[in-house]
Amino acid sequence: MTAEVNNEAMANASPFIGRKAQMFPQLSSAQIARLEAHGTHRQMRKGEILAEPGDRNRPMLVVLSGGIEVLQTGMSGEVLIVVHTAGSFTGEMSTLQGIGTLVRSRVREDGEVLVITEDRLRTIIQTDAELSELFMRAFILRRVSLIASNAGDVVLLGSSHSAGTLRLQQFLTRNSFPFVNLDVNTDQAVQALLERFHIKADDVPVVLCRGEVVLKNPSNEEVAACLGMNQQIDDDRVRDLIVVGAGPSGLAAAVYAASEGLDVLVLETGTPGGQAGSSSKIENYLGFPTGISGLALAARARVQAQKFGAEIRTAYTALKLNCDRRPYAVALCHGSAVRARALIIATGAEYRQLAIENAFRFLGTGIYYAATATEARRCEMKDVIVVGGGNSAGQAAVFLAGRCSHVHLLVRSKGLAESMSNYLVRRIAEASNITLHANTEITSLEGDEQLERVIWKTAPDNVLETHAIGHVFLMTGAVPSTHWLRGCISLDDKGFVRTGSDLTAADLAPASGSADRPAQSFETSWPGIFAVGDVRSGSVKRVAAAVGEGSACVQQVHQALHD
Ligand SMILES: Cc1cc2nc3c(=O)[nH]c(=O)nc-3n(C[C@H](O)[C@H](O)[C@H](O)COP(=O)(O)OP(=O)(O)OC[C@H]3O[C@@H](n4cnc5c(N)ncnc54)[C@H](O)[C@@H]3O)c2cc1C
Repeated sequence: MTAEVNNEAMANASPFIGRKAQMFPQLSSAQIARLEAHGTHRQMRKGEILAEPGDRNRPMLVVLSGGIEVLQTGMSGEVLIVVHTAGSFTGEMSTLQGIGTLVRSRVREDGEVLVITEDRLRTIIQTDAELSELFMRAFILRRVSLIASNAGDVVLLGSSHSAGTLRLQQFLTRNSFPFVNLDVNTDQAVQALLERFHIKADDVPVVLCRGEVVLKNPSNEEVAACLGMNQQIDDDRVRDLIVVGAGPSGLAAAVYAASEGLDVLVLETGTPGGQAGSSSKIENYLGFPTGISGLALAARARVQAQKFGAEIRTAYTALKLNCDRRPYAVALCHGSAVRARALIIATGAEYRQLAIENAFRFLGTGIYYAATATEARRCEMKDVIVVGGGNSAGQAAVFLAGRCSHVHLLVRSKGLAESMSNYLVRRIAEASNITLHANTEITSLEGDEQLERVIWKTAPDNVLETHAIGHVFLMTGAVPSTHWLRGCISLDDKGFVRTGSDLTAADLAPASGSADRPAQSFETSWPGIFAVGDVRSGSVKRVAAAVGEGSACVQQVHQALHD
């Protein structure tokens, strides 16, 4: 009586084999007895479809008798992942998130199941430590295996020369969404797909969504909607707390607020992780002695927040904050608005653009603002340029040195000592394929569809040098993402949000009379609206500081909710 991974699946989906016992554990009779209190019994008949890819709010099913086969659907048909028999259970991360499921579940043998809805599942996870660990581990490993299988019914047809392709690769990867990546220039299988779906090579990037819908150069929002990446939520409900931004500070706030019983909605314009998500390895964050990629840290934090019941909407931009009436309202890019009694601004910062006229044209086709495996694949064994003298530039240079032929690190200052951590300065000095160019800046970029040449000058002589390099990583500092707050929240002269004791009488004037207590340390010029992390004026721009602020702020949110 075990979950069975059959030969067909073994041949086709080896990622599902590795940690089978943890991925498909067997529940003991004592554990099933505990689950009985949370579920309802249901009979099932052979051939019955229990879930299709994209279906939302599918419950977890604990098999009491009979069998359920779980299948990955793809362009070439079904691949069997596992057969759940008595004592086994269905589900993966989407079950807990209430979002579109990734697989098909079909009854293989008549029997009976215990149906556990998403709400009840969350209750179990929050109250039963043993089952929580068992379910969470199984769900995470199942998702990881689906991603590693490089299979499924979501196909990205793109080109390594296209900026739109890179954007969609980043969006799907950073959302931990499994997809098949095909390059129109190199993959044999592409031609047949182009013909089958009447797609022209110029249409790329194209997302084949669930093998049915063809999205040509879609926005992230369109992809999220087609794949059911967000929950269907009632926008009229007034929340306790809206967190805008799902970088380290916003995710930390969501974890603490949700775990303390608040009704939390998180809005994220791109993908959870923020700036940290664009780092290949964070080595100074407490508790990770061998370092952790920003992507992995964000994925864990996201799961943790959702485990406690926080709702996270990805590809949702906060366009405007209306702060003159409570509950506060945030206008969304989709034309609707969401409201809450308290709000945390955690929108961090965006990379400063290169002040060169045609730089925007090469965004994603030679100019990059992140250095992770996704971008590095484009420049394997080629020369690259990293611009910047801070830690993010240092990390990028060291990471890319392991993937690319040679890294040219360009800094305007006379060296790295003042702006970069010692450990990175040492690694750069020791790497034979990194050259530091001090007093140097890029003056122009040349190329047709792709960046082909970079021209730079070095002070004091300012002689121009042309290099045939097609990949430039810009790590030159960031500007606060606060444009959506203008006219509402008090900002400092650089655009960061003022909080607590930094607020002047003039800052507080518009909100005068709306609170009879002084602003708390993370509170902005309006009571009940807080700012944390990089977006906050005077904050330390580090992952640990952002996480600390996000979690500490929740205490102050409680205070504001009691006002
Ligand atoms: C490449 C790189 C490497 C780094 N390495 C390290 C390191 O090793 N150690 C370290 O301590 N720090 C490092 N940092 C700094 C660290 O990542 C930041 O300090 C940290 O991410 C700040 O977190 P945050 O949540 O405040 O903001 P952010 O990480 O900037 O997150 C803000 C989030 O808000 C979202 N957002 C913005 N506007 C809106 C809107 N209108 N609506 C909805 N969502 C919105 C953004 O998409 C983003 O996801 C690095 C930064 C970079 C870029």
